[in-house]
Amino acid sequence: MAKRVGIFGGTFDPIHIGHLRGALEVAEQLGFEELRLIPSARPPHRDAPQVSAADRLAMVEQAVVGVPPLRVDDRELKRDKPSYSIDTLESLRAELAAADQLFLLLGWDAFCGLPTWHRWEELLDHCHILVLQRPDADNEAPEALRDLLAARSVSDPQTLSGPSGQIAFVWQTPLAVSASQIRSLLASGKSVRFLVPDAVLAYIHARGLYRAPN
Ligand code: ATP
Repeated sequence: MAKRVGIFGGTFDPIHIGHLRGALEVAEQLGFEELRLIPSARPPHRDAPQVSAADRLAMVEQAVVGVPPLRVDDRELKRDKPSYSIDTLESLRAELAAADQLFLLLGWDAFCGLPTWHRWEELLDHCHILVLQRPDADNEAPEALRDLLAARSVSDPQTLSGPSGQIAFVWQTPLAVSASQIRSLLASGKSVRFLVPDAVLAYIHARGLYRAPN
């Protein structure tokens, strides 16, 4: 029986309920055996100095405890090169059977930026793409993606067939939460309770993350 595996990458700085609820809903809708959350390495100039990759990874680990089928995959943080999704997909594919279905989850904003990604035209050779609708995003796909959408999109994600090659839009409960909002609330001393899981909140407080410098 072919396995269904989803992957969802992000900086997760920090992981929040928008990521988690979307991941869980898609995993359940599409019957994934597993959905891997993959924290990405970031170029040094974008890294807030007080939040290391190790902290971002630890928060994702805390968030998925007891929530099958969500899992953490740290392969992009272990790599010493920039983390390109195509490399991640190739390495995951090498671990799966040829018939297994691989689904790359992307928020709408990430999907719109696809044409700037390294070797982006090869992504669909390895996976299907599921686009999560995000409440604060506008809905016009960029010109560079129109032909691809016309050729590869299917209207019902349940009909995605084969190991790779198609695009579908998926519904998720709209949650207009962002990591930047959470960072700025914390920097101004406000609560982020209920925007992140309690275990993530406890980690943030224990490590004193995202506080404004004194
Ligand atoms: P930031 O505010 O720092 O840009 P972010 O909240 O967008 O961060 P990322 O880690 O950059 O989080 O996002 C990872 C993926 O999750 C992206 O594909 C993004 O579109 C998606 N995403 C983030 N927030 C939500 C949300 N509230 N609902 C649905 N998808 C989301």
